[in-house]
Order: sequence, then C-alpha cells, then structure tokens
Amino acid sequence: MALLMKAKEAANRINTEIMAEVSALGMEGITPHLAAIIVDGDPASAYYAEAKRRIAERLGVSFCLHAFQADAEEAEIMALVRQLNEDASVHGIMLELPLPQHISARKVEREIRPSKDIDGVTPQNKLATMTGEPGLYPATPQACIYLLKHYGFALEGKNVTLVGRGQTVGLPLFHLLQREQSTVTVCHSRTPDIASHLSHADIAFLAVGRPNRITSAMVHDRLIVVDAGINETEDGRITGDGAADLDAYVTAVSPVPGGVGTLTTAILFQNLMKAIRIQQGREEQL
Ligand code: NAP
Repeated sequence: MALLMKAKEAANRINTEIMAEVSALGMEGITPHLAAIIVDGDPASAYYAEAKRRIAERLGVSFCLHAFQADAEEAEIMALVRQLNEDASVHGIMLELPLPQHISARKVEREIRPSKDIDGVTPQNKLATMTGEPGLYPATPQACIYLLKHYGFALEGKNVTLVGRGQTVGLPLFHLLQREQSTVTVCHSRTPDIASHLSHADIAFLAVGRPNRITSAMVHDRLIVVDAGINETEDGRITGDGAADLDAYVTAVSPVPGGVGTLTTAILFQNLMKAIRIQQGREEQL
C-alpha cells in the first residue's frame, strides 16, 4: 500500500508560522486583509471561497468576498479591482475562477497590482515564476512541491512527468520544477501515450482536470504521484486525476481531497504575508 501524502500536518505548520506573523503585524496595528472576487455561477468556487473565509478567521486575517451576479459586466469587475488596488487596507486580491464566458479572466487578472497578486496571476509575477526572480508565485504549483518535500522526497536529478500544462497549475509548475533541477517531461491532451512517459518517471504530477485520467495500468511501483486535479463526480464527490485504486500500485500518492488543495489554501495565506512584506518594502519583487 502506498504512502498517503496527506497535507494536514504541512498545512498546520504553515498556518502556525502565519499566525505568528499575523500577531507581530497586530503589534504594528496591521490586520492582514484578503479580498476575493467571485462571479456567481460555479458552486465549486463558491465552496472554495467559503473555505478561505473559515481559514482566514482561524488565522486572524480579515476576509471579504466581493460577489457579482452571473450577468455582471467585465468593466464592473475591473473597476472593483482598481479600487482594491488603491485601498491601503487591502493586502491581497484574488479572483475565484472560473468566470462566466463573457468575462476575460486574463484581462481582469492583468489589472491586479502585482504586489497584491497573491496567486501569481499577473504578467509580472508569471515572469518571476518563470525566471526565479523575486515575486509572488502561484499557490497550487508551490503546494505540489511543498507536499513532496514535506514527505522527504527530493526532486534534484529526478525524472518528472507532468501531466497537464494549464496556466494555473501545469505551466507554472513546469518552471518551478526546472529550478528544482528535475528533468521534466510535459504531457498534455495531444500526447498519444502518457503511460510510456510515466514508465521512465520517478515522480508524476497530475494537473489535468479529468477523473481517472491516470489508471493503475499506467503506473509502476516506484512512482510517486502528486495529484493536483480536482473533479466533481456525478454523485457530488471530489476526486483527483488519478484512479481511486492508484494507492495499491505506486510508492506514494497524495489524496484528493486532503492533499494539494488543502496545502494550496495555506500557501495562499503564506503569499498574503509575503505580499505585505513586499508592500512594506521589506522584501523585493521583480
Ligand atoms: P487547464 O488550464 O484546464 O489545463 C488542463 C491541462 O490538462 C491542459 O494542459 C490540457 O492539455 C491537459 N489535458 C486535458 N485533457 C487531457 C487528457 N485527456 N489527457 C491529458 N491531458 C489533458 O487546468 P488547470 O486550471 O491548470 O487545472 C488543472 C487541474 O488542477 C484541474 O483539475 C483543476 O481543478 C485543478 N486545480 C487544483 C487546485 C488545487 O488547489 N488543488 C487549484 C487550481 C486548479 P492541452 O494543453 O493540450 O489543452
């Protein structure tokens, strides 16, 4: 049976560090404030936004969810972002995805001030993620690597197969993995035989968004699998991209839920603390 790489302990460790920082900021009269923007229509993103609110409360962070109706205009959302950029009491801004078709997430993301961009979605932070210059890197790719290291697995010199090259997870993770000195193969929707790539891999990261995309027949018993996928089944359960029985066929696997997603939330708040240091001029940003 594989080692199950649960994220709770790692998330608790990060949250303890955050609480110490929040309390130190309190002495300076600063309450960290995260503003999230959501457009009605996606029950999953509403659920994740509420999860952030609960964690913010636990950490002593102030959290405001700015909710728009499904027919909101792109211009209204852009105007809110500009207002939050100028509001000195707001330290972090994040846009809950997906957005309805008529609103361009890329356009809204570009409007966020880079020093408040706690999920690394602005062009400036994307460039920093790519080059390794200081900045705010996306949370989920960071969570994938943190979880692996928390369980003592090294990335240097390893053959890594990344399944998925999306803007949120796969692509930025590819850049972070380069700097971890891994040899990375990137698979995607046009890769004919993903199993052949997995057969050479020491570590696999799954970031596709398709349940059961990686089955037990595609893996081997030396493989370590970090599953970032989030899929909702017809009966309302959350699953990853790896099949449910993968744990019987690999060395280690991260569970969904309770793996990358749990750690992603902790890292978003860790980024919020970093954003405050950047805004105070105590830390550099590209
Ligand atoms: P995305 O932008 O939709 O990208 C999906 C990637 O998977 C693309 O590169 C696509 O290939 C590839 N793909 C699609 N179908 C495939 C198939 N049948 N076989 C192989 N590859 C396939 O997704 P994303 O936003 O990066 O998110 C990826 C997953 O992570 C989703 O499940 C999302 O819900 C999850 N997620 C998790 C967290 C967390 O906190 N754990 C946070 C954000 C997202 P092409 O490039 O060729 O189109």
